[in-house]
Amino acid sequence: MKPIPYGRQHITDEDIAAVVETLKSDFLTQGPKIDEFERKFAEYVGAPYAVAVNNATSGLHIAAKALGVGPGTKVIVTPLTFAASANCIRYCGSDVTFCDINPDTYLMDAAKLEQILESHPAGTFSGIVIVDFAGYPHNLEQYREIADRHGLWIIEDACHAPGAWYTDSKGERQLTGNCRYADCTIFSFHPVKHIATGEGGMVTTAKPELLERLRLYRTHGITKDASKLEKNDGGWYYEMQDLGFNYRITDFQAALGISQLSRAEAGLERRQEIARRYDEAFKGNDKIKTPYRSEDVRHAFHLYVIKVPDRKALYDALRANGVMAQVHYVPLHLMPYYRQLGNAPGQLPVVEDYYEHCLSLPMYPTLTDEEQEYVIKQVLQHV
Ligand SMILES: *Cc1c(COP(=O)(O)O)cnc(C)c1O
Repeated sequence: MKPIPYGRQHITDEDIAAVVETLKSDFLTQGPKIDEFERKFAEYVGAPYAVAVNNATSGLHIAAKALGVGPGTKVIVTPLTFAASANCIRYCGSDVTFCDINPDTYLMDAAKLEQILESHPAGTFSGIVIVDFAGYPHNLEQYREIADRHGLWIIEDACHAPGAWYTDSKGERQLTGNCRYADCTIFSFHPVKHIATGEGGMVTTAKPELLERLRLYRTHGITKDASKLEKNDGGWYYEMQDLGFNYRITDFQAALGISQLSRAEAGLERRQEIARRYDEAFKGNDKIKTPYRSEDVRHAFHLYVIKVPDRKALYDALRANGVMAQVHYVPLHLMPYYRQLGNAPGQLPVVEDYYEHCLSLPMYPTLTDEEQEYVIKQVLQHV
């Protein structure tokens, strides 16, 4: 059997045809497929607006910049994430304070967040970056209530969670990224994520003023929009109104994204099915802690993470047998860069314990039943 990765993309003949068609069109970048991808993605997650970018890291950066992140304030970030969720704050010259995670959901612990906020003078923090880790969505209504009491904005890094939802206090389903409560939500289209465009990302928002700034920062801070220009010298005229970047996605990547998006629900269904099979196979095994489940949410299962007593031994045994399990993540506060900024081991006991025991098992729509049974057998044999 070929080695089984922890995640992988699924490219169909339809995807390839969509890209080829765009390559033969008049636009390679900045064409009609980008608008269409933004419109369809916004509809999929129930958001008023969406801005496509060249990757999620760029999306996080312009979201932070659009929200006014800068020197002099601090931002509270979860340590259990990919580096980009915190780096975007550093790009803008602001300081990062890490908040420990909940031991069950692995999301930023709301009680600890309140403790941090209450033990600092008002105005210390400008916002929070939360991550729907593994695909488990935050109850944003709850975090909004905390954020409002302390005058904070919310960036939701939903790179793991397109298609997820939670149930609010009125019993209504709130789709991840609809921005009912978050200021900006960011998605990634890296090949291991749910929707793949090679490199790619999307920022959703419900606020027109943020939409305007996101679009400006995506393209050098330049606008040609006649209604926003200080003057107008003629049809050629444009203005650079702020310092921005080139964070644009190409038209052929957007075409791939549109094609992939049409299969997003089917992929999510398959991920649920795989998760249920793992849950069932490991039920009652006291050495394996399976992911937290709740009827109130739809888990998007970017990752299926188990906790085991001897993670290193299991990791090595699985690798030796062709199962390429992975560790998500080394907590950010333990990275040399963030240690140099004043963080230290022992600071966040829950995420540090999580890190000692976690392992992400293969989870992607094209994982076959036969491959999954093999993974299960190997885990049970070596745990
Ligand atoms: C993948 C990922 C990113 C970065 O995405 P890119 O598109 O590769 O820039 C950021 N945050 C999280 C949680 C991710 O999983």
